[in-house]
Amino acid sequence: MEIRFDHTTLGQRVLFGAGAAATNIAAALRDLGTTRPLLVGGGHAVEVVDQISEQFAVVGHIREVVQHVPAERARDAVVLVQEADADSVVAIGGGSATGLAKIIARDTGLPVVAVPTTFSGSEATDIWGMTEDERKTTGTDLRVLPRVVVYDATLTQGLPPDLAVHSGLNALAHAVDSLWAPRADPINRAMAGEGMRALVPGLRGLRSDIKDVRAHEQVLYGTYLSGVALASAGAGMHHKICHVLGGTFNLPHAPTHAVVLPYVAAYNTEADPDSEARIAEALGTAHAAPGLWDLAREVGAPGSLGEIGFTEDAVDLAAELATAAIPDSNPRPVSQESVAALLRAALRGDDVR
Ligand code: NAD
Repeated sequence: MEIRFDHTTLGQRVLFGAGAAATNIAAALRDLGTTRPLLVGGGHAVEVVDQISEQFAVVGHIREVVQHVPAERARDAVVLVQEADADSVVAIGGGSATGLAKIIARDTGLPVVAVPTTFSGSEATDIWGMTEDERKTTGTDLRVLPRVVVYDATLTQGLPPDLAVHSGLNALAHAVDSLWAPRADPINRAMAGEGMRALVPGLRGLRSDIKDVRAHEQVLYGTYLSGVALASAGAGMHHKICHVLGGTFNLPHAPTHAVVLPYVAAYNTEADPDSEARIAEALGTAHAAPGLWDLAREVGAPGSLGEIGFTEDAVDLAAELATAAIPDSNPRPVSQESVAALLRAALRGDDVR
């Protein structure tokens, strides 16, 4: 079979090692030639913050980070960075801390060192997001791609089990959805496959022992690969649906992804045997969608959209908005009716078999 594609690999350094966050952040800052970092977040990594503060002239610290990057806070942060004459930003936290650092980078050009404490995967993408007047705007910009990512599995060990599992399933959704996204190609599909192969056992490990550092390493490794795959391939049907559920109906980000994923997989894999095989192989199951559905039950994800606040009267509008956004690359054609049927099944929590 002929191979032909157009792939861009984004330039990013990744330093990975349990217990090595402070050392690796310091190395990253020195190698970037920076001496005046501003810190964002860090509430879940106090010792790391202290060690960095001892070694560098930290010129500011934005401790309080708000979900979905409110525009007003982002503007204040940019002013603070400029007034403090910072030469770099170190973001220590989940997608919200990384998200704020990305807006600072977009507006100032400063390099970001991202130190994730969840499995959001934002650190691997050049996608920014900001909320103004209750509307979330997103965009891509190479300036927001963190120059260095520092992964330390001891930093995610403190996550409450439910948050860890929902966040990890969100990472799995990045890998799965990238398979049918607009710029899917053999390279990002390979990364998605390896990402899934790391995430599935890692998630099971977290559920049986939330302090298991080897399981955290697996999930972080899978999170990175899945984030890179999504950044490279773009967002597919799953993300478009979840974006509407979160943006318009205010459903919680990671649990929404955890619930919706098996339904989108059930819809798409019927028309995409290669993706079906890749997902099933990672899960160790005969079929992709039932495997994803069983995994979500096994690790304790919410059972339905109804459980996390979605209601029948919202289905038609959600279906209309999502259908308009689903890319043409989707392996199966979509209609408002088919998306509404998918949402109703997820609302009730139907078994996908
Ligand atoms: P988050 O950063 O808001 O973290 C969720 C919660 O976990 C917060 O209450 C936080 O304080 C807590 N937390 C973080 N680390 C912890 C730890 N180690 N121990 C205990 N608690 C901890 O949210 P998130 O789920 O990490 O990320 C979601 C956000 O990221 C959303 O706004 C989403 O849109 C964005 N996102 C962006 C991209 C992108 O590419 N731009 C990709 C994925 C997610």
